[in-house]
Amino acid sequence: MTENKLNSYRIAQQQIQAAVKQLGLSSTVYELLKQPMRELTVAIPVEMDDGSVKVFIGYRVQHNHALGPLKGGIRFHPEVTLDEVRALAMWMTFKCAVVGLPYGGAKGGVICDPKKLSLRELQRLSRGYVNAVAPLLGIEKDIPAPDVYTNAQVMAWMMDEFSKIKQYNEFGVITGKPQVVGGSAGRHEATARGCMIVVREAARALEIPLQGATVAVQGFGNAGSIIARLLHEQGCRLVAAVDSSGGAYNRRGLDPIRLAEYKSKTGSVKGYPGSQNITSQELLTLDCDILIPAALENQITAQNAPYVKARIIGEAANGPTTPEADRILKENRTLVIPDILASAGGVTVSYFEWVQNRMGYYWSTEEVNKKLEDIMVRSFREVYQTYQQRKDVDMRTAAYMVAIKRISEAMEVRGWLG
Ligand code: GLU
Repeated sequence: MTENKLNSYRIAQQQIQAAVKQLGLSSTVYELLKQPMRELTVAIPVEMDDGSVKVFIGYRVQHNHALGPLKGGIRFHPEVTLDEVRALAMWMTFKCAVVGLPYGGAKGGVICDPKKLSLRELQRLSRGYVNAVAPLLGIEKDIPAPDVYTNAQVMAWMMDEFSKIKQYNEFGVITGKPQVVGGSAGRHEATARGCMIVVREAARALEIPLQGATVAVQGFGNAGSIIARLLHEQGCRLVAAVDSSGGAYNRRGLDPIRLAEYKSKTGSVKGYPGSQNITSQELLTLDCDILIPAALENQITAQNAPYVKARIIGEAANGPTTPEADRILKENRTLVIPDILASAGGVTVSYFEWVQNRMGYYWSTEEVNKKLEDIMVRSFREVYQTYQQRKDVDMRTAAYMVAIKRISEAMEVRGWLG
């Protein structure tokens, strides 16, 4: 497969185009949605612990704000590219719209390897990034959150830095914070909980009992490890998990809590007692009922899609499946719950966090989870209904159709479409 085909930005454009066409909307809708409305590239000087200065490159990309302020996480990863951040910003627009949040989409990224930075260096980089992109941010403008290799601590530093610039506490400018500084109950588990809910609803729709259903999880970070636990609580059997260093496979089942403890001690799921090693590629084509890609983009491709055996794929990661793989999976009758729906739990509770920050009044975990449950179930049904009504589209296109319908209506009434 050529490099161009795997470019996430091009893939995002193809996905938008397919849905705009299905909806029969004017070409102006596609012209407006096919690229971000604003992009900022920044060079961030960071003093390293040895006294030297290293310059890191970062991005903040704002895609579309027809439905409300811009929203989306910040990724710290050595392979971040501008095109990747563009695609991720675009996916945020549709993710927020498909679940009905009053937000547009944005995304940030910094080219760095956080595993090689000390805590102090990581703090200086996080503060430096916020300083550099501060003109774009604001509680009514653009609200970042965590993404791959950033966490609640990084969000706390970023919120603190922005508050220093403003000279008052602006808790609501960043979500995914620790609870003691305005974080929401349930936010840490929210991406995973949202994914579990839509997988559960899909299993119900396909009449696959969750009791005893086998699950394989690619990526055992914040999303993957918690999805494994939540699906286990639903009666599923986790048979395999992989992370960036290796994998663990046991046909009889792995205990997701013990596996997460093992990973936090050793740094990987690899070598978990009683398990066999398994590669990421082997995991994707494993004999299982439910496959959860919870790592990075372009994992399920034209090469491995013909061998995928799972009946349901719950995309907890952003962009794990290429358009060619989508076509193959559709032919093979695998139900793909697309990323913009299956991973929307995180931003949904981010929205609750932002609302709570603005009220200064905080909800219990039960209240948050109940509200999340309602939104995820309603959104799944809406997408599934569109998918069933239009036999020619897959779940991804159906999800984009629900999202783009909302966004184009907003653009229409705002007068952006002429
Ligand atoms: N980074 C997460 C995502 O891709 C969360 C975004 C947010 O909470 O704003 O959905």
